[in-house]
Amino acid sequence: MSNQKNKLSKISAILSIEDQILLTEKFYKNILLFNDPCLEAQRMAVKKNYMILKHITNPYPEVQIFVVKRDGGNIRLIKDPCPEAQRIAVERDGSNIRFIKDPCPEAQRIAVERYGGNIILIKDPCPEAQIIAVHEDPLNVCSIKNPCEEAQLFVVEKSPVNIQWIENPTEKIQNLICTKYPQCIVYLQIISDEALQIYNKLIAVPEDFTCSICIEEEGKEKKIIQKLTSCGHYFHKDCVQKWLKDKDSCPVCRTSI
Ligand SMILES: [Zn+2]
Ligand SMILES: [Zn+2]
Repeated sequence: MSNQKNKLSKISAILSIEDQILLTEKFYKNILLFNDPCLEAQRMAVKKNYMILKHITNPYPEVQIFVVKRDGGNIRLIKDPCPEAQRIAVERDGSNIRFIKDPCPEAQRIAVERYGGNIILIKDPCPEAQIIAVHEDPLNVCSIKNPCEEAQLFVVEKSPVNIQWIENPTEKIQNLICTKYPQCIVYLQIISDEALQIYNKLIAVPEDFTCSICIEEEGKEKKIIQKLTSCGHYFHKDCVQKWLKDKDSCPVCRTSI
């Protein structure tokens, strides 16, 4: 069987353009025998059945464009679509971006201009696409794995509590939070000693603080302390957040949160 296949591919290597056209005219699936089918044969085959495109290794841009003009979702049949085909596909429907492995920046831009939430369909969105997406809705930042600093900056300046949606804020953004919006420090994983001091002063942590959840004083580990706004009791941020996962009242005075 594989011998026969080898023989066929040897034959296809020496097929003239005329022979390719002739064989494709007879039966479009014959194109599968050609190593590098010519443009005319590709055109003929996809006109018969555009699904055949899936089996053509490097389809000509003209052929790619032909199938995506029919239906933008056909972009999924092309392994490495050309920029023009990508552009047409996402212009038809921005969510077609999900079928493109490494979308070009222009396709990304069009996809998120149509709907910022499409950013979730792009594996590593380019900075421009990220910025458009967060301008449409700052919470789109949740769908970006490592948002660029400009996107982070916009999100935080729009509303500093949004910092909680950024998994790994850059040092610059962390510093901005610590100096400009210290009340949002509770949303940071890491903060400097200096910023922690500013924050503790701001929320007026009592001298004799002890966390009633873990019964430990704030000390060596320099844990972040959180003050519950509803009753004013203080706890380690990590302790109280774990507690509030399944309860909705203060562990000390039972005031509902
Ligand atoms: Zn604690
Ligand atoms: Zn309380």
